[in-house]
Amino acid sequence: MAELQNLLELNQPALAQFFAQLGEKPASVKMRAKQTLKWLHQSQVTDFSAMTDIAKATRDLLAANAEIRDLSVIRDSTASDGTRKWLFDVGTSAVDAVFIPEDDRGTLCISSQAGCALDCSFCSTGKQGFNRNLTVGEIIGQLRYANKALKADLGIEGRTPDGVQPVTNVVMMGMGEPLANYLNVFPALEMMLDDNAYGLSRRRVTVSTSGMVPQIDELARVVPVALAVSLHAPTDALRDVLVPINKRYPLKELLAACNRYLEFAPRDFITFEYVMLDGVNDQPEHAEALIKVAKQVPSKLNLIPFNPFPNSGYGKSPRERILAFQRRLSDAGIVTTIRKTRGDDIDAACGQLAGQIKDRTRRTAAKTINIHPASGSSKFPGDQQ
Ligand code: SAH
Ligand code: SF4
Repeated sequence: MAELQNLLELNQPALAQFFAQLGEKPASVKMRAKQTLKWLHQSQVTDFSAMTDIAKATRDLLAANAEIRDLSVIRDSTASDGTRKWLFDVGTSAVDAVFIPEDDRGTLCISSQAGCALDCSFCSTGKQGFNRNLTVGEIIGQLRYANKALKADLGIEGRTPDGVQPVTNVVMMGMGEPLANYLNVFPALEMMLDDNAYGLSRRRVTVSTSGMVPQIDELARVVPVALAVSLHAPTDALRDVLVPINKRYPLKELLAACNRYLEFAPRDFITFEYVMLDGVNDQPEHAEALIKVAKQVPSKLNLIPFNPFPNSGYGKSPRERILAFQRRLSDAGIVTTIRKTRGDDIDAACGQLAGQIKDRTRRTAAKTINIHPASGSSKFPGDQQ
């Protein structure tokens, strides 16, 4: 028997195609796709028998050819400030998603890859090396899982009466570089925006990238959500060290891509992320250089306190220095915020928990992966399937 199709892997066009393959009439494949998306992503059903508005014969066909395969959870922890973190088993390794509840929103930070090949020197995910791309179903599965779990806490099973789910915002700031896995990330983003699935507005979904320029243009073309760019350094010399992809796409090109993106973006600014590393990029001269960079793009700056991990070789900038840095930028007219650290007692920061259970020697093995193949069938150099 052919392998069962995991329906979580399919966005609306792919579901329609799947129904066509099952022999559904052309006139009704689109409606079937919409119905199925609603059951899977608004009610989070786990069984075809629950899909009561779909004919029994069609449900039987689904049961014979498809499955609903959720992520399996290794650990589920809640911090004293309410931040909740799930660690998911993705076979050879684990990835995490973090839910950050606030008064007016609930933000889920999700992962796009197990590990990351881009090797930013201050990042624990980067230190683990690249393991593999998450599939569409594994990316959207984090959102499905979180909504289902959070609703269960509220005593809600199935769709909420008003259709609003606990996760109101998604940020792709967990493990991995989303734009290095755009073939899976883009359909997952489409499902986040699809009114038949999560129905989030484009401004409530943010992709964070270390600066993959051609893929930023592709995101603008296919699914232009809010964009955050991990700047971390105001000069090419320093950025080459901290964010090595800069050697391929230097600041000038990156800033030009940001300006191009703004024509399509749901907001009129780009968010620049800047991790504060003690003595490395947090000095007055860095602030001055950063002001010049930030002024080239309509932008807001988000200063991130460094989250230390063993053998990182970096230290946290003292609070006073972060505040002084912020003051300089604000005085120059750049809107600058400092990221609140949340969930400290459960290590709810970028890739941290998964990092603890993973094989730290993998970085060495990953060095052999050529992330910039000279040729290949993929659309961009550097794609990994
Ligand atoms: N790969 C993407 C998204 C994932 S990382 C990117 O690099 O943008 C999300 C954010 O966390 C990025 O800005 C990243 O640079 C930052 N980050 C990584 N390691 C960190 C650490 N140890 N402390 C603080 N921020 C970190
Ligand atoms: Fe990858 Fe982002 Fe970490 Fe850099 S900061 S290694 S791009 S996950």
